[in-house]
Amino acid sequence: MLSYRHAFHAGNHADVLKHMVLCLLLRHLNKKDKPYAVLDTHAGAGMYALNQAYAQKNSEYMSGIGKILHHRELRDLVPEYYQVIDSINTSKSGINFYPGSPLFSCALSRESERIYLCELHRSEFETVYKNFKRDRRVSINHTDGFEAMKSMLPLNPKRGLCLIDPSYELKSDYTQVLKALKTGLSRFPTGIFAIWYPVLGKLKDHSKNLTFDIKRTNAPLLQVELNIDGQSDDFGMNGSGMLIVNYPYGLYEELEQIMGPLFTALKDGKGSARLRILNEKD
Ligand code: SAM
Repeated sequence: MLSYRHAFHAGNHADVLKHMVLCLLLRHLNKKDKPYAVLDTHAGAGMYALNQAYAQKNSEYMSGIGKILHHRELRDLVPEYYQVIDSINTSKSGINFYPGSPLFSCALSRESERIYLCELHRSEFETVYKNFKRDRRVSINHTDGFEAMKSMLPLNPKRGLCLIDPSYELKSDYTQVLKALKTGLSRFPTGIFAIWYPVLGKLKDHSKNLTFDIKRTNAPLLQVELNIDGQSDDFGMNGSGMLIVNYPYGLYEELEQIMGPLFTALKDGKGSARLRILNEKD
C-alpha cells in the first residue's frame, strides 16, 4: 500500500511552495523569544540526492528548484529557504541535494526548540532516523502521523506548528486529514496547522472538497495555491496548495509579495496562483 517515495518528487514545484511556506511560518515562530515545537506528521527522508535514480527518473526538480535556484528577487524575499539549500550544496556544480521538511525545521529553529518527526514507511523512517539522530532536539517516530495528532498533541512546548503533508496515495488520506485536523484543533487550539494538498486532473481532484471541509471548521484559515498549468481533464498533478489554520499575522502580506515572482518563474502553461483568507482571525 505504501509505495510512495518522495525522492521521485523532491524539489518539484509543489515542494518549493510547501517549503517556502514552512520557512515563513518558522520565521514567525522565531520572532518571539519563547520556545516552540514542530510536529511533522509525514516527514519523509529529510534530504534527497538529486543525482540518484529516483530523482533522475522524471527530473521533477527541474519544474521547481531548477527554475528558481538563482532567482534574485525570491532569494531576497525568502532568504531562509535558500540558506538551507545553499548549506547542503557547497560544490559549484549546481544543485545536487534538496532538503526535506525536517531539514528546513531543524536548520531554521533554535537550540530551545523541539522537533517531532513521524514517518510510517520503514526505509524512509530508517533514512530520516539516520539523518537526524544526532540532533538532541529531534524525536523521530516510526508511527502513523495522523494518529500522532491525537497522541502527541498538545506539543511540548505548547506553542508551535504541525505540518501535515501526506502523499494522498490513498483516497482516505483526505478524510484522515480532516479528522486529524479536528482532533488537533481540539487538543491544541492555538497551534498553527499547515496542510499541503495536490491539485490533480479533474477526474481525480479533491482539493476543492478538502478546502470546503476545512473551512467549515471555522478556524482562521489562509489558502495559498499555485497551479503551474491549467487543470487537465484526467490525471496528473497540475499544482498544489497549502491550507494554513491559525495563520500568523503578516503571513498574507509576505505571501502576497512572493506569489507573483514565484508563479512567473514556475508556470508552464496557463496556470493560476491564488492567495486568500477563507476564515478571518477574530
Ligand atoms: N514532508 C516531507 C517533505 O516535505 O520533505 C515529504 C513527505 S511525503 C509527501 C509523505 C511521506 O509520508 C512519505 O515519506 C510516506 O512514506 C509517509 N507516509 C505515508 N503515510 C503515512 C502515515 N500515515 N503516517 C506517517 N507517514 C506516512
